Amino acid sequence: RGEITLGDFADRLGVPSSEIIKKLFLKGQMLTINSPISFDLAEELAVEYDALVEEEEEIELEFGEKFALEVEDREEDLVERPPVITIMGHVDHGKTSLLDSIRASNVVSGEDGGITQKIGAYQIIKNGKKITFVDTPGHEAFTDMRARGAQVTDIAILVVAADDGVMPQTVEALSHAKAAGVPIIVAVNKIDKPEANPMKVKQELMEHGLISVEWGGDTEFVEVSAKKKLHLDDLLDTILITAEILELKANPKKRAKGVVLESKLDPKVGPVADVLIQEGTLKIGDVIVAGETYGKVRALLNDKGERIDVVGLSQPAEIIGFNQVPQAGDTIYVIQNEQHAKRIVEEVAKERKLAETSRKTITLESLSEQFE
Ligand code: GDP
Ligand code: MG
Repeated sequence: RGEITLGDFADRLGVPSSEIIKKLFLKGQMLTINSPISFDLAEELAVEYDALVEEEEEIELEFGEKFALEVEDREEDLVERPPVITIMGHVDHGKTSLLDSIRASNVVSGEDGGITQKIGAYQIIKNGKKITFVDTPGHEAFTDMRARGAQVTDIAILVVAADDGVMPQTVEALSHAKAAGVPIIVAVNKIDKPEANPMKVKQELMEHGLISVEWGGDTEFVEVSAKKKLHLDDLLDTILITAEILELKANPKKRAKGVVLESKLDPKVGPVADVLIQEGTLKIGDVIVAGETYGKVRALLNDKGERIDVVGLSQPAEIIGFNQVPQAGDTIYVIQNEQHAKRIVEEVAKERKLAETSRKTITLESLSEQFE
């Protein structure tokens, strides 16, 4: 049986971590947001939250089941899933160019080319394997989303311009990736420039603990030019090798779970959310919740703007059907039925409002004083 952290668990329940910490504190257990909680404890807590809503038994099953699925995927249900890649680096070092070039060079012949849809992520196929690229500014992917318990990225590509070298945001990106425990591949970009000095990039990054494989370390450096589309294949191969080592797996059979990457209000179709599905399979007609919003999936679009019926593991998609615009970083869950979904978001909204007003006052110290 696996364990999850209190923070993750709170997120899954849709209640602030502070509330769970307080609840446990009052029971004499001092836990923090990072403490692992046992399945039994989690189950005990879930029951308490379910008791808040009317149809006790059903909701209890809802949360209990959701959580059970979270920790106990049967080995035989797990399948390989595509890696999710985030590109990070200093401004102007070529993040956007690299994303665009990789996408453009992977347009399957016969497709009418051109990027029809601006979605927060896209998927390509290399050597018959899918790779998902998430187009969120590196920081958001690692800070905002992580703060909400949603780890999106499997592998970080650190772009460093060979004519500029390691810059402040390079170091910042590096520290985010390290904190998240995500493997880093360095893309030394702009090698087409006469003044490019890839060696200098390697030396500078070594000072930050990233030692290239050639030099006896374990970080892959790939020299590329996003502009001239040089060595992009090498970069993709390196991503696939890294992904293979990670043995990324998930269960496609259960109800879908994912994360909202971006969202907006479309004047024609209403709230639109770009999501990345991390577990299960999302289908038209599924009832969904994300933070304080809920709805029923009315339409699904892939990264090319085509209508699709199902969204699989690590696949990005645009969802139409939310009643309001969900927040980027919110976790999206498929829920049994609309009634339940409505109750869950009501609770989440209530809890978030509460958390808003008490965020600053609830710390472990203030709690212990308060309840002494
Ligand atoms: P971002 O801020 O990291 O997203 O960087 P951009 O992708 O917007 O690129 C910044 C500038 O660098 C643009 O003018 C690009 O055309 C240029 N650029 C990006 N990649 C390369 C490259 O491989 N070679 C050259 N010569 N210029 C590049
Ligand atoms: Mg950019």
